Amino acid sequence: MKVTIGHLYPDLLNLYGDRGNIQCMRKRCEWRGIEAEVREFQITDAIDFNALDIVLLGGGSDREQMLVCERLKAIQKDFQGYVEDGGVVIAVCGGYQLLGHYYDTDDGRIEGLSLVDLYTEQGSPRLISNIVIQNDQMEAPIVGFENHGGRTYINDNQPLGKVLFGFGNNGEDGQEGVLYKNVIGTYLHGPLLPKNPQISDLLIRRALERKYGKAEMSPLNDAQELEANQYIVERFVKKTL
Ligand code: GLN
Repeated sequence: MKVTIGHLYPDLLNLYGDRGNIQCMRKRCEWRGIEAEVREFQITDAIDFNALDIVLLGGGSDREQMLVCERLKAIQKDFQGYVEDGGVVIAVCGGYQLLGHYYDTDDGRIEGLSLVDLYTEQGSPRLISNIVIQNDQMEAPIVGFENHGGRTYINDNQPLGKVLFGFGNNGEDGQEGVLYKNVIGTYLHGPLLPKNPQISDLLIRRALERKYGKAEMSPLNDAQELEANQYIVERFVKKTL
């Protein structure tokens, strides 16, 4: 079995080292004997979405998002076809905002991909915090860090989780991230996948199922990751209860 991971615009959308998330998926595949290939695409490269199993769209500053947004028009149709066909996407922070219709900033509107029915508006102050969220389908809470000026509204879509600590999509509705088909969007950036192997495995599983009709994924020893996760939950959630 083989998984091909496409990393979109790592030069522009790589805030807080989103590249580490690629390394995590690659290693978790390799440890199970699943081949993993990573393809990086720069802003002018053509992208054959048919050749990809997982796409990562990372975080970026407003300025970088503005640069990327011009290019997105050229790939919108193909990217939409990939998503509607069940293609797996993990989009983080700036990349998450770009999944939606637009991101309105003080310097103007950044047009998004309109792959998911959501939109973002800039607000003040920035929402900066450790964050813990709960998705009842997952065995452990999802932990991470957020830093965004944008407030995202996901309309009727399902969130990735309920906020237990931190701000989430907009600091108002208690929701964080979005789930749409096989797309995950989230404000949790930096080492999202190393900290939350359950999300890493969900992405790999969905990609394998789409490609091969089944996923053979042997369990890995995540004792250290789970211990770290529990420490964060104790520190930020349990102490406030
Ligand atoms: N520029 C966006 C915001 O501030 C996203 C930032 C990020 O990717 N961390 O809302």
